[in-house]
Amino acid sequence: MMCGPDSGQGDAAGTDCSEVLHRVYEYLDGEMTRDDTAKIAHHLEACSPCLKQYDLDQALKALVKRSCACEEAPVELRTQIMARITTIRYEISE
Ligand SMILES: [Zn+2]
Repeated sequence: MMCGPDSGQGDAAGTDCSEVLHRVYEYLDGEMTRDDTAKIAHHLEACSPCLKQYDLDQALKALVKRSCACEEAPVELRTQIMARITTIRYEISE
């Protein structure tokens, strides 16, 4: 139910959506090989559900990193983001 030519499931840029979603944290942490990084980046360009998930994970990671400093953890905001991630994961797995 998406627009654009890449609305097919799981095959944007030849990478499976589930693989991308499972590895998005590795991608964010820069723990991937250069080939894998390119593969994921390519997939994210073509696949809006995965990109949405990536954006959320990136936001959460930034938030967690920030709250590790001297500030008190913004629990409410974190809870909200976690809830949104859960919602989107359900949408993707439908
Ligand atoms: Zn995808």
